[in-house]
Amino acid sequence: MTTRRSRGCLRWVHPWLWWALACLLTAGLAGCRAEDDSSQPPEQPPTGPTPEGPRQMMVRRQIRARGVKDKRVLAAMEKVPRHEFVPADQRPHAYEDRPLPIGERQTISQPYIVALMTELLELEEGDKVLEIGTGSGYQAAVLAELTPHVYTIEIIPSLAERAEETLRRLGYETVQVKAGDGYLGWPEHAPFDGIIVTCAPEEVPEALAEQLGEGGRMVIPVGPQWTHQTLYVLRKSRGRLRQKEVIPVRFVPMVHE
Ligand code: SAH
Repeated sequence: MTTRRSRGCLRWVHPWLWWALACLLTAGLAGCRAEDDSSQPPEQPPTGPTPEGPRQMMVRRQIRARGVKDKRVLAAMEKVPRHEFVPADQRPHAYEDRPLPIGERQTISQPYIVALMTELLELEEGDKVLEIGTGSGYQAAVLAELTPHVYTIEIIPSLAERAEETLRRLGYETVQVKAGDGYLGWPEHAPFDGIIVTCAPEEVPEALAEQLGEGGRMVIPVGPQWTHQTLYVLRKSRGRLRQKEVIPVRFVPMVHE
């Protein structure tokens, strides 16, 4: 009984075994054929919208959502690879909604603040702009997307050097970087159409006010150190500065040499 049952079972299994074997052989051959047959058209990439990248998401969620509208500024923020400007251990956080450490107890500003300050400068192509506080060089790269005439001063020489290297490596050839004291401005290249200060002085530095050209805009956080300051836009009209308060902000202090 046992033998017959097992034989019966074998008889029943056999066709399945053959079928499985045939399937394996066909799959193997089909695989080979697909690889070898160069007359087949290449596989098409999937159609439809391309998925949103981290920078596009940063612009949509952190910057446009908060009211920055200038298309050229938004395009610049989408283009500049922020992760290239932060230390390797900060790269996973490069597109987060916050400032990040860049060494020497300094920080790269929150993306929204970079975009807002750039928008407030109202730069036109060909404008000459001075940045005080180069830091990582990121803000300077964003400015360079809007005009080729960017001058930037950093008081910590090692940061100035590293920022210049990063900018050159990424092809921002025209940005002029200087290690020095921003309180003095850069008189050789004045007057400037825009001045952006990314560290906070307690008062507007006199040299910077002087080096702002007629009709020029200065975007600057002013206030006591290590606490909240106010972001201002100053506009020079007939030699006088008119100021407008924007928002409370928190920047590292603008130090004296
Ligand atoms: N804009 C930078 C971040 C600036 S952090 C970026 O995109 O990464 C502020 C920088 O201002 C720091 O690097 C600090 O060293 C610099 N700083 C402070 N006081 C300064 C001064 N008097 N002149 C020039 N730079 C100064």
